[in-house]
Amino acid sequence: MKGNGENKLAEQFAEFGGVVAGHTSFVIMSHVRPDGDAIGSQVALGFALMAMGKTVYLINEDGVPESLAFMAGSEKVTTPPAEPLEVEVAIALDTANKPRLGEKSLHAASKAKFWVNIDHHISNPAYGDLNIIDGTSPATGQILYQLIRALDMPLPDETRDAVYVAVSTDTGSFQYGSTTAATYELGADLIRRGLDVGKINADTYDNHPFRRLELMRELLNTLEISPDGTIANWELRDAVRLKLDLQPDDSEGLIDMIRGVKGVRVAAFFEELEGGKIRVSMRSKDKGVNVCDVAAKFGGGGHALAAGIRMAGSLEDAKAAVLAALGESLAK
Ligand code: AMP
Ligand code: MN
Ligand code: MN
Repeated sequence: MKGNGENKLAEQFAEFGGVVAGHTSFVIMSHVRPDGDAIGSQVALGFALMAMGKTVYLINEDGVPESLAFMAGSEKVTTPPAEPLEVEVAIALDTANKPRLGEKSLHAASKAKFWVNIDHHISNPAYGDLNIIDGTSPATGQILYQLIRALDMPLPDETRDAVYVAVSTDTGSFQYGSTTAATYELGADLIRRGLDVGKINADTYDNHPFRRLELMRELLNTLEISPDGTIANWELRDAVRLKLDLQPDDSEGLIDMIRGVKGVRVAAFFEELEGGKIRVSMRSKDKGVNVCDVAAKFGGGGHALAAGIRMAGSLEDAKAAVLAALGESLAK
């Protein structure tokens, strides 16, 4: 499901309005290892629905990362309960495929009769009963803002701030090419509605634990660049994660440092995860190199310029295979 015409989106928003009007209980989820767009989207839609008097559960497989706990309303996002929730509707946000919601979340949502899937990943296979997928939107939070405005739903302060965090984090602070006039208009509207832009940016970007810098030092020690200077990568081993007592979100966004090097066209980050899998994170600076296509070769997905993979095997094997595929993609 690629870009979505404006009319189609308007129809889907209207259909969502019908789903909301016809039901009273909802579980709202987002992807494992949640980022700002994931938790921000959950809080944004959750508080809008709660303000309409709906019963809403907000669950995430991995809970709220420390770096996003400042968000008002994030305390309502919990890890999934062991027993399935008594809900009519399940809503997946910012989640490229259903398994990325996590097994416990899927179990908790298993009694829902109707699934809504709202996302901006071009690789999303449309796994809902209602799918609102806009691959041209820079963040799921922006789709939700448009939805809330289109349906004239309530926009409480928690929703206002959460939309901002979602959009700001997924656009690299309103920088990436995916940022549009509508994105800046959204920012302006939220500020007019009382958003404290200085405070929320400081909470989001100037509030890192010291160990993130120690992690940066470790990553820099593993930095490699291809002979022609176009592909840069670094890696994070188990031993470093244990030594520094790292949290999964400590590395969020650090890949932008290697992406930002002159001459680099693609950046890759290889990480040994607890439980044995390898996480690969990729960024392209170049419309000619679609890292989502490269990720798809290994069962991953994402966006053309930012994509990820979770794969079995050793870090060495993952690195060799993915760097070879990136090299091929660059040669084209
Ligand atoms: P990350 O590098 O983890 O920040 O992810 C970059 C983008 O790719 C995000 O939009 C993710 O949601 C998406 N993504 C990451 N890993 C996967 C995966 N295993 N499958 C599908 N999409 C992914
Ligand atoms: Mn996300
Ligand atoms: Mn997103």
